Order: sequence, then structure tokens, then C-alpha cells
Amino acid sequence: MSSNTQAIAAFVAEVVAKNPNEPEFHQAVHEVVHSVYPVVAANPAYREARILDRLVEPERVIMFRVPWLDDQGQFQINRGYRIEMNSAIGPYKGGLRLHPTVTLGVLKFLAFEQVLKNSLTTLSMGGGKGGSDFDPKGKSNNEVMRFCQSFMTELYRHIGPDTDVPAGDIGVGGREIGYLFGQYKRIANRFNGVLTGKGLSFGGSLLRPEATGYGAVYFAQEMLATRGQEVAGKVATVSGSGNVAQYTVEKLLHCGAKPITLSDSGGTILDEDGIDEEKLAWVMDLKNVRRGRISEYANRFPNARFLAGQRPWGVKCDLAFPSATQNEVDESDARALVANGCVCVSEGANMPTTPEGVEVFLAARILYGPGKAANAGGVSVSGLEMTQNAGVVGWPREEVDMRLQQIMKSIHANCVQYGEEDGFVNYVRGANIAGFVKVADAMLAQGCV
Ligand code: NDP
Repeated sequence: MSSNTQAIAAFVAEVVAKNPNEPEFHQAVHEVVHSVYPVVAANPAYREARILDRLVEPERVIMFRVPWLDDQGQFQINRGYRIEMNSAIGPYKGGLRLHPTVTLGVLKFLAFEQVLKNSLTTLSMGGGKGGSDFDPKGKSNNEVMRFCQSFMTELYRHIGPDTDVPAGDIGVGGREIGYLFGQYKRIANRFNGVLTGKGLSFGGSLLRPEATGYGAVYFAQEMLATRGQEVAGKVATVSGSGNVAQYTVEKLLHCGAKPITLSDSGGTILDEDGIDEEKLAWVMDLKNVRRGRISEYANRFPNARFLAGQRPWGVKCDLAFPSATQNEVDESDARALVANGCVCVSEGANMPTTPEGVEVFLAARILYGPGKAANAGGVSVSGLEMTQNAGVVGWPREEVDMRLQQIMKSIHANCVQYGEEDGFVNYVRGANIAGFVKVADAMLAQGCV
């Protein structure tokens, strides 16, 4: 075993011992440390300032009770969190997730990834993440509103446009951001850019809803271009059917690709004819307005099949866009994708591929864009929303899109700079090192804080 390998193992073992029962956090730390350790080992200043030890320790963790009354007048209690992970390069920034699987460890993994992702965007944003184990599924609008109001009644004292700026994530879209913003404004008596993903009539940015999905396709375009290929004419599988999945499909259609799957936790729909604009509009209404299940697609469009309980990765495709949740592509899924000729995986979700799955993609030397690079378009346009709020201006859609494309190009270029080896770009290593160096240098400059 090399001395670096031993040191990485010892470092991760300490993180595991100090943060028990947080497997997703351990997984994220292991992957990043594996990439950046050689940089740390070669730089005595990083070691003396114990940059890595500080990077894995959140600056602040806030945990709180969220009591609310359901439609029957019964008391309901959830747990709320905000992880303020690292503010070396800007105010904490990252989404809020509402899902029954939310735990401290899940949010710490997301906050940790967010620190490096935000650094990659070229904008000035630190990393944070928050949420609750509240399940919005099956709840009425009034229940969701009462929950959001109770959640914000505690959260408001910890956030602000230059301290911590939350946004959406799983289970938090325009409806929830509206309720959260309303309650913040009421308690704080301030109208400011404390949240991003706001409605257009109260400070939102054009293209924020589209940004993560569009960005994942832009990133795929950049990766494909390194091999003289393009998105046009390719068959694509997409998982999830929420915000990121919907706008991934939309941008794939703009680019002339053929998206053929969507999914949710119940299973996958496979439409060999392709999910076109009209079918996508139907899905958006199903998911965002009627809040139904993706299985209904196969009833509405009889040529499509519903694969109950299955993920999309066994379906033959050229491009894959995991856009649902963490660890949704395991080793056998990755093998199936590679065996079926998939040439490019661009992750809209955060850490959707297990470490074993990542190994399969890297060994096959396909184009593999990890979430912290490929899905950074969402937080980038959130950053642009903050800039517009600070200047009390609203940019046209074309301008936001142009800036988003520039940012995705520059993230890609950074990944190539740090990740190229033997003519192959290891985007995992590239993204981790490029994100890390900027944060580490800022931490070094700011002393023992
Ligand atoms: P949404 O809530 O809009 O959609 C989530 C989708 O993923 C739904 O189809 C949902 O299905 C499915 N899903 C969620 N959890 C699970 C699970 N445990 N098993 C199977 N399917 C699941 O969320 P987003 O589209 O906003 O987020 C999707 C991913 O993208 C997440 O990983 C998120 O962190 C990441 N991301 C989002 C950004 C954004 O701007 N929104 C920015 C960057 C990353 P079901 O309804 O059955 O739960």
C-alpha cells in the first residue's frame, strides 16, 4: 500500500468514527479525499493548516423541531435541518430537501458536495444544505403551507442574503419556495434575496427552473465535443420525473436527441417513440399540477410501457442522465449501460452513481460527468438570481442562458485541466481538485477559522 493510500484510509476511518451512521457522508468524503489527497500531500501549507480536517467539519449544524397541524387538526412533528458547511468563498448556498429519507448524514453529504460544486461555478458561493423528513406526497396545499411556515419560523433567524441563501431540491419547487419566502418576509419584515428559485413576480430569475436540467445537457455537449460527437441524433435515458428530469428532456429535445424514459420511485416508463414536446407538457402537468405518478404515462400513451419497480438503466441508450436521487445507478446498472453502448453519462442528480458504478464507467473510459460538475447549472443560476436581486434588476432569458452556457463551459474546462491523464479526462478527479483548490486557498488566506 502506498503512503497516500494508507493516509487516505486513516483519514476516512477517522471521519467514519466521528460521524457514525452517516454512510452517504462517508461515501462523499471518501471519493473527494481520494482525488484531492495527492494535492494535499504535495502542499505542506494545506497540511499545516489542516484544510482537509476542517473541510469535513461543518461550520455549523442547526437541527430543530417542526410542529404543524394537519387537515384533521392533529399535531404532526418533523425534524428540520440546515447544514452550514463552508463559507470560505461566499455565503452558504444550497437547497432544501423535503423527503422521508432525509437524515443528518444525507444532508451532510449534500452540503459537502455543494461546497466543491459552488466553487466550480466560478461564482462567490459557500456551501450548505437543509431540509426535513417531511413527505410532501399526498399532503394538501394547506398542509404543505403550514409545514413550510413552521419550518421557516425557526430557519429565518439563521439565513439572510449575505449569510445563507437556501433554494429548492427534492420536494421543494416553486410552490414551497413561495410559502417559505412569504413566511420569511412576514417574520423578518424584509424583502430581499434570502431564497432563490423565487417566483418571477417576487424576485425570481428567468431560467432558474430550467437551469439544472439544461446545464446537465450543456455539460454532456461539452464532454461529447471532446470526442467529436454531439447530442443531436442520440437516444437518451433519463431517470426521475421532477424538476431536473423534466428540463433535461426539454433541452434534449431542443438539441435533436430522443429521450425515451422517465421514472419515479414506482418504476420507469419506456417510450420507444420518444418523449416529444407534447408528451413532456403532459408530464409537467401530471407532476407539477396534478401531482400524479409516472405510471399514468403508459395509460395516456399506450405505445409506452411501464416497467414497475425498475430503473431505466437496462434500456439501450447512447446517453444517460440520472436525475432522481443518490445511489440510483449501482455496479450492475453501470455494467448494463456500458454493455448496451452508452457513451456518456451526465448526472443531474447528486451522487446518483455508487462508487462501484463509478469504477465501471472510469474503467470503460466512457464520458462520465459527476453531479458536482454536471448539475452545477442550477446553483449557478441561483447565483445569478442573487446578483440580480442585489442590483434590483431582472435579466432577459437569453442573457441568463448565455451566462449559464458560459459557466458550464468553464466548469468543463476546469475539469479537463485537472482531470486529463493519458488522453482520457477523469471528470471525477478534475471536478474534485478544481473545486477543492479554490476553497483551500481561501481557507489558507483566512487563517485558523
Ligand atoms: P424533484 O422532487 O422535483 O424530483 C425528484 C424525482 O426523483 C421524482 O421523480 C422522485 O420520484 C424521484 N426520487 C426522489 N427520491 C427517490 C428515491 N429515493 N427513489 C426513487 N426515486 C426518487 O427533485 P429535483 O428534480 O429537484 O431533484 C432531483 C435530483 O437532482 C436530486 O438528487 C437533487 O439533489 C438534484 N439536484 C437538483 C437541483 C435543482 O435545482 N432542483 C440542483 C442540483 C441537483 P418520487 O416522486 O416517486 O419520489
